[in-house]
Formats: sequence, C-alpha cells, structure tokens
Amino acid sequence: MACTFCGLGKDEVATLVAGPGVYICGDCVALAEQVIGEARQLDGGTAEHLAVGLACSFCGKPDTDVQRLIVGPDVRICDQCVGLCVEVCGLS
Ligand SMILES: [Zn+2]
Ligand SMILES: [Zn+2]
Repeated sequence: MACTFCGLGKDEVATLVAGPGVYICGDCVALAEQVIGEARQLDGGTAEHLAVGLACSFCGKPDTDVQRLIVGPDVRICDQCVGLCVEVCGLS
C-alpha cells in the first residue's frame, strides 16, 4: 500500500486514506486542501472545470459534479473527498 499521489509507502506516512484502488496520505491531503483553499480565495468559490472529462478516483464523481478536482499522476481527488480525508486524518 502506498500513496497514489506521492508514492510514499504506508510505513513512511502518518496516515493513509484508502479509496477504491487508490490511496492518499495525510501530507497530500493537506497539500490538496491548501490548493483548494487558495483557489477558492482567487476565484471566490466559482467552480472552474479545467479537468474536463475526468472523474474523482475516490468517489467517482465527474469533474462537472464537484467544485474542484485535484489531479495527480493517474489519480484524481475532488474537494469533497479532500474534506472527508481531512477529517479522517484529523487535520481539521
Ligand atoms: Zn502522498
Ligand atoms: Zn471525490
């Protein structure tokens, strides 16, 4: 088991959140949350769909159904799943 975003193994990270065949570590969750927060400040929360045709690897929602999609190598996570992971990792 390793984080699908940064490739660090389960033993190398504090927390690893599992999705369907994908994993994200606490560090990547924190990073994703930061990116989403900064983007919200920049555009005032308006949805921006740069990742056209992609879907969240964790919940399967297409980019059109979520506010923001963080795109990693062969893996995507939406703002809603990042919010859940923040809670799971105890980062909030
Ligand atoms: Zn990671
Ligand atoms: Zn999602």
